[in-house]
Amino acid sequence: MARGEIVLKTATDAAGKTTESAILYGHFVGTVLDFLIISFVMWMIVRTFIKPVPVAAAEPTKKCPECLEMIPAAARRCRACTSQVA
Ligand SMILES: [Zn+2]
Repeated sequence: MARGEIVLKTATDAAGKTTESAILYGHFVGTVLDFLIISFVMWMIVRTFIKPVPVAAAEPTKKCPECLEMIPAAARRCRACTSQVA
């Protein structure tokens, strides 16, 4: 029990050697801890290489008076109907 195990059965043979059957939950906890540490470190490494794509600021738009298409506010001619909008 002291080493992270649940002893199910202890047997002593004729030579006096003791053998025990146990569930090694300490080994399982150690493996889970290793997995969490390694996955956290991998997440930190991958996060440095994968940068979020910067979102471009949306340019101001206006509605074309002729075709009601949304066009950039600085446009002088509509790209959809080619009418002068300036
Ligand atoms: Zn238009």
